[in-house]
Amino acid sequence: MKEPLLIDLSKPGRKAFCFPQLDLPRGFDQALPSLPAALSRTKPARLPEVAELDVVRHFTRLSNLVHGVDNGMYPLGSCTMKYNPKLSEHIAKMEAFTQVHPLQDTATVQGCLSVMYNLLEDLSSITGMAWGTLQPCAGAHGEYTGLKMIRSYFQSKGEGERNKILIPISAHGTNPASAALNGFEVVNIASNADGMVDLADLESKLDEHTAALMLTNPNTLGLFEKQILLISNLVHRKGAMLYYDGANLNAIMGMATPGDMGFDVVHLNLHKTFSTPHGGGGPGSGPVMVKEKLRPFLPKPDIELSDSGYAYRWDLEHSIGKVSFFWGNFLVLLRAYVYILRMGSEGLRAASRHAVLNANYLAARLSPAFTIPYGKRCMHEFVISLEDLKQAYGVTALDFAKALIDEGYHPPTMYFPSLVSEALMIEPTESESLETLDAFADTLLALLERAKQDPASFKLAPRTTVVGRLDEVKAVKEPNLRY
Ligand SMILES: *Cc1c(COP(=O)(O)O)cnc(C)c1O
Repeated sequence: MKEPLLIDLSKPGRKAFCFPQLDLPRGFDQALPSLPAALSRTKPARLPEVAELDVVRHFTRLSNLVHGVDNGMYPLGSCTMKYNPKLSEHIAKMEAFTQVHPLQDTATVQGCLSVMYNLLEDLSSITGMAWGTLQPCAGAHGEYTGLKMIRSYFQSKGEGERNKILIPISAHGTNPASAALNGFEVVNIASNADGMVDLADLESKLDEHTAALMLTNPNTLGLFEKQILLISNLVHRKGAMLYYDGANLNAIMGMATPGDMGFDVVHLNLHKTFSTPHGGGGPGSGPVMVKEKLRPFLPKPDIELSDSGYAYRWDLEHSIGKVSFFWGNFLVLLRAYVYILRMGSEGLRAASRHAVLNANYLAARLSPAFTIPYGKRCMHEFVISLEDLKQAYGVTALDFAKALIDEGYHPPTMYFPSLVSEALMIEPTESESLETLDAFADTLLALLERAKQDPASFKLAPRTTVVGRLDEVKAVKEPNLRY
């Protein structure tokens, strides 16, 4: 099953293309500036020489080895892996959008500007915020941008001593990283026995040095912070801000807004919730939406609509400046806009309802056999603990996840959040049908039985993949990506 590299398939003289005859005069390249000798090759690059059919078969075989949403369920908690409609892909491929340049005269790109303006309006109403920026290219980039605005806001008010960001221990790892990158000190907030923010711990750590509290709601245990208005009051009474990590908006999109919950800044991951496939580090988009008081600090340029049409606006006095090339990943913005238009507000609400229903259905089918330590009811995801299984039979969450690969499923997120030992975090998303959910539940239940009968077999998984069990630490610490 091992797929050779293209270079291994190479045979001198084979070609997959044929350039047209050169019709420029001989020596035309003499007029071009030449590269410094130190940067020029001394011998031709060693490139694979293969026929078109070799290339097509190579990549088709590779694509068959990959597991994605298009060929199977992908229940990756905290990283919504939903199905994204092909219509959005189709529209994002149109030349009208791919062949424009961001430096074109705005009079010639009014359509593109209207997409961005309207998207900002839609995201404002979905999040309950005043306005925002589309520049950030990832969730973490959005966090960085949002926190930078908070920092500038406090500096402009003469409150530069606010240098702490409070973050619950259940938060995504990018939250403390973004705070640290902005020069803030990170203070952890404990979770209580129900998996919610521990209010006493929060109160004891909130002070005049606090710039913001970063929260995900529902949190990474898939639980809605019911005390959010109380939390919001506590934070605002101390003059601090409330930051919403909205990477996964699937649970509340169209149902509730972070704005109403009292949040001042929100980032969204368009590449999780709004119709762009993600994983593998592909282009993403993490818009940041803010309440009115932070609006003057948004990155520039902004987009304005006047009688003469859409235009960029650069004269923003308090702006934190640019955080990205031009508008960030425009085609990702376009997919999100197409998705929102096609779904409509009722469609977005329905998606959220189904995401929550699917997660609860799965949790209900699994809870008689598996331990779900936090919450009887969940929002878009829930977290299983395999601690009992590990204690009794030596089968860990890692072993279980690897065995699931052999059954044709992408494993859930493992060992996160750290509140749950031997954690498997499952988010089925709204895309999956009842039949798929049942098949997945049956598989998990059957694997649990097998883990008790034949625990040793789990140590050998996965067996159906090109390479077996990898040393994950070594793969991260000593990546060998060269031929
Ligand atoms: C995915 C995710 C992020 C980070 O988003 P990236 O685009 O990967 O940088 C932040 N917070 C939560 C809760 C997430 O699920």
